[in-house]
Amino acid sequence: MSWRNWGRTESAQPVRVLRPATEAHVATAIEQAAADGLPVKAVGSGHSFSGIAVAPGVQLDLSGLTGLVGVDHATDRVTLRAGTPLHAVPALLAPHGLAMPNLGDIDQQTISGAVSTGTHGTGLTFGGLATQVVGARFVDGWGEVHVVDASHKWLPAVALGLGALGVLTELTLQCVPAFQLQAVERPEPLEQVLDSWAERIRAHDHVEFYWFPHTATALTKTNTRLPLGAPTRPLPGWRRRLDDDLLANGLFELTCRACSRLPGLTPTVNRAAERLTGNRTFTDVATAVFTTRRSVRFREMEYAVPAGILPQVAREVGALIERRRWRVSFPLEFRVAAADDRWLSTAHERDSGYVAVHRYWRDAEDDYLTEVEALLRDHDGRPHWGKLHTRTAADLAGAYPRFADFLVLRDELDPDRRFANPYLERVLGA
Ligand SMILES: Cc1cc2nc3c(=O)[nH]c(=O)nc-3n(C[C@H](O)[C@H](O)[C@H](O)COP(=O)(O)OP(=O)(O)OC[C@H]3O[C@@H](n4cnc5c(N)ncnc54)[C@H](O)[C@@H]3O)c2cc1C
Repeated sequence: MSWRNWGRTESAQPVRVLRPATEAHVATAIEQAAADGLPVKAVGSGHSFSGIAVAPGVQLDLSGLTGLVGVDHATDRVTLRAGTPLHAVPALLAPHGLAMPNLGDIDQQTISGAVSTGTHGTGLTFGGLATQVVGARFVDGWGEVHVVDASHKWLPAVALGLGALGVLTELTLQCVPAFQLQAVERPEPLEQVLDSWAERIRAHDHVEFYWFPHTATALTKTNTRLPLGAPTRPLPGWRRRLDDDLLANGLFELTCRACSRLPGLTPTVNRAAERLTGNRTFTDVATAVFTTRRSVRFREMEYAVPAGILPQVAREVGALIERRRWRVSFPLEFRVAAADDRWLSTAHERDSGYVAVHRYWRDAEDDYLTEVEALLRDHDGRPHWGKLHTRTAADLAGAYPRFADFLVLRDELDPDRRFANPYLERVLGA
């Protein structure tokens, strides 16, 4: 019965675990939990670092609620059961010639877990995954089923609902014709990347970079969208195994472990990592380029700041790391996303630059995350709901123009707080 998340930052001992296979089972589970006075929490793949998925009462494992419900070929809209893992989606959509327009770094999350926390990828003209949602079915705290479409006034709340409004059973996504990506990955001088960041994010579809602290190099990834028929040039199997399995996962695990025991080694190791990261250009189907395998466990905090100030913020975070002399083996990641209308989206009504800071999971806790958080918060930063942060309802309210509306809707759909847990009490209030 015990549960823990991928990052090993949270655990739970649910009173009971249920695996509903239909929407009716979900409704019954909620009604039964209400009769027993227990809270209910749907969990996805447990890939949130925050306590958002902790289920102290009834845990709903949605691995029985997966798969394709239907495809509307006229609109390229696709309905999926809520527990469908992202890695299963390409095969479900391929026969229909469709794809999700954008993805984050991995595909292990469930579709409902990913949208519920505001999971995003990168690209100035692309919103996070919740912006792909154009319809949903969910069961509220009374056990009642609701169906919302693209024009429904609740959709911008339900599509990114933190698991606080109900249990999603189906999601309809606006998809696009399947496409390929040309990926250009290379090390570049950090200062040059920061100086040209504003032009880069406008000139290319998907731009991001990693920066290993204690180095002056950014590892940039620039992806360009191409139609499916364009010639492909996938990475040879040996190169993918060398880069992604051996270097990015196998060797990286060893170096992180060594740096965790001997933090003084970190700058030298990071400079070696920077040299080992090669130039590569390849073209492949979009999911094979967007997502990678991550086997080295870490803890993560990520904040969204106004897109235009990302270079300045990156420089300030770098200066703080050097000033405080933290030894950080994990790279920071910088991305961008389009403004959107989801009430609790970190990109709500503003184009956003994302700053993600990571710690190898075995590293001793220090004040790295909290001090970087203070800096990002001072830049009007909004924390990723699925990653580590210390914000509370009282100070988040001012960061989100529709926060009060979300709370009113929560009162309507879940007045008894059937979906509450300690995290939601902290970020939304009791
Ligand atoms: C290695 C790694 C890489 C990551 N990369 C990215 C990235 O590139 N971009 C990014 O933005 N984030 C990223 N994340 C964060 C991750 O995408 C989010 O935390 C996401 O929510 C995890 O999805 P999950 O299925 O594991 O959901 P969980 O963590 O299990 O649950 C998250 C929330 O969704 C709710 N939920 C799940 N199913 C339902 C449902 N059916 N109805 C209502 N609520 C539901 C849960 O109750 C909980 O509140 C990454 C995390 C890891 C560990």
